[in-house]
Amino acid sequence: MAVPELPEVETIRRQLAPHLEGRRLRRVEILDPRWTRPEPPAAVQERLIGASVRHLGRAGKYLVWSLSDDLYLLIHLRMTGSLLVDPASEPVHTRVRFGLDDGHRLIYVDPRRFGTGHLLAGEDARDAYLSARIGVEPLTTEFTVEHLRALARGRRAPIKAFLLDQRRIAGVGNIYADEALFRAGIHPLRPTGRLDRADWARLREGIEEALAAGIDAKGATIEDFRHVDGQRGSFQDRFLVYRRAGLACPRCGSTVRKIVVAGRGTHICEHCQRRPRAVRRPAKRPAAA
Ligand SMILES: [Zn+2]
Repeated sequence: MAVPELPEVETIRRQLAPHLEGRRLRRVEILDPRWTRPEPPAAVQERLIGASVRHLGRAGKYLVWSLSDDLYLLIHLRMTGSLLVDPASEPVHTRVRFGLDDGHRLIYVDPRRFGTGHLLAGEDARDAYLSARIGVEPLTTEFTVEHLRALARGRRAPIKAFLLDQRRIAGVGNIYADEALFRAGIHPLRPTGRLDRADWARLREGIEEALAAGIDAKGATIEDFRHVDGQRGSFQDRFLVYRRAGLACPRCGSTVRKIVVAGRGTHICEHCQRRPRAVRRPAKRPAAA
């Protein structure tokens, strides 16, 4: 299942900001107690009503609403969440309704109900919440080769698993990990700690290029992801390897293959992304330290 990643959430942020920034929340109805768990929805609802939206930001896959009175609402769409502005009719799986002071409505819809909305008081609480969950943010000045190498030192997990770990790098999921590794020419099974400086330079660039291409295409819609007006993203039409098993590699013409890494379907060109030796010939002798 494809879930919203950094480019999809950033697309929503950009579309939603002009609707929300400067607006006051006149009505808030949280219909699903799971959304705010462990907080009771009534308490969260009460604090949100009357609050103004100062700024709409993003951290990894979180939408960060900066509200009046130093409150922060952190929304995570998880698997199937979407935010719709003024839908023509109310969707079946509506979980939260927001009524704005300009008469517009914002609806949070989530068929699978894994999405969350957490209200935090104060910047310290916001930062503590986020730093416990997400690591370095791509597309910022902190996303350097040095930083990535420091995070990777001594780690033996496959590089794909490392990229998917939100506590290391924020916002990269299955789609953009595959696209970034292909762009960098790095096999997803390579042990993270074995990548050298040149590998990291290519991978850092590959991650940023893949994410930027995703944002440029307004995200990828494979199943549920929708823009705030219900439209689909278009990045699924520009994938280089993701979901292209059996098709030609755009770089060399070899056939793209699908393998499983870290329990996730993973798309590679075995010609452009060379398999690490230890994985090519398993169990003959222990890998050198
Ligand atoms: Zn290739």
